[in-house]
Amino acid sequence: MKLPNKIGVLTSGGDAPGMNAAIRAVVRACAYNNLESVGVYRGFQGLIEGDFKELNARTVKNMINRGGTFLKSARCKDFLNAEGRRKAFDNLKRENVDALIVIGGDGSFAGASVFGKEFNFPVIGIPGTIDNDINGTDYTIGYDTALNTVVDAIDKIRDTANSHNRLFLVEVMGRGSGDIALNAGIGAGAEEILIPKLNMGLERLLDSLNRSKKSGKTSSIVVVSEGEKIGENILELAEYIEKNLPEYEVRVTVLGHIQRGGVPSCYDRVLASRFGVGAVDALLRGETNVMMGIIHNRIISIPFSEAIKGDNTIDEELIRVADIISI
Ligand code: ATP
Repeated sequence: MKLPNKIGVLTSGGDAPGMNAAIRAVVRACAYNNLESVGVYRGFQGLIEGDFKELNARTVKNMINRGGTFLKSARCKDFLNAEGRRKAFDNLKRENVDALIVIGGDGSFAGASVFGKEFNFPVIGIPGTIDNDINGTDYTIGYDTALNTVVDAIDKIRDTANSHNRLFLVEVMGRGSGDIALNAGIGAGAEEILIPKLNMGLERLLDSLNRSKKSGKTSSIVVVSEGEKIGENILELAEYIEKNLPEYEVRVTVLGHIQRGGVPSCYDRVLASRFGVGAVDALLRGETNVMMGIIHNRIISIPFSEAIKGDNTIDEELIRVADIISI
């Protein structure tokens, strides 16, 4: 198999803090190995439109500390059909790009995998999403920063919850996985953590809040993962609690997109750097159709098919810890 001389890099799907650090690491690992590198703007859309720019070790200076992605990210319907992917392939050929590194989530890896097989084109994935919802890796880029953002926000909410004896419902991102809710909930000292996989049910929630009140707690924080359907939505859940526990004054905060932005944490910068270097190393070993991952603090690569499939599991030990320390 011919090893690549010129590597393209793009960011796709939702942005995540640390994506810039990953792009920077890819570009610098290319420079280190005397390979050329090309940035593709706006994910697969830019691939189809030929929106490419040559990058070098200096064009990625002052990037490691910046949130978002300077290459921009996008979702792209045209990449779902063969005609769009053919245009993308033609553009890569014309620019003499002979391998591609895709930084994104499982949707982006599904696209990269189809493309890699269709054109026998070397592709490597780097997991970048705040949701930490990808199989085959303990962590994704952006997750640690998002956790810290959420904990910081809940700390502030706790000040006002305490001052007014209120119950705060705080909705956090994380899709179905609930990793942000569970870990930030423990880190911020939440009374209850509602995540779709646990399916707690309204009765148990009311029991638990009642117990909290009786045990002398005067304010409470309940972290609710987006996608949790215990109420139809978080506002209805708040109404339900107020109706059934009138002694509680309930307030709702939806943290929303502040969780996506911000300066990447040191952990995310290091992880992104390791993934970027690892991805170029993997291409130089002749690997393709794999995603970089971190398992027990070791950088590994696994087939896209493993990363894309099914649900990642929830950590029972964390659930137990959350239960015990919220007594
Ligand atoms: P996030 O987890 O942040 O949403 P993601 O990578 O999962 O990130 P998606 O919107 O699911 O985000 O996918 C990104 C893009 O990948 C899509 O807009 C589409 O262009 C491409 N894509 C997804 N699935 C496929 C597929 N089966 N075939 C071809 N392309 C795909």
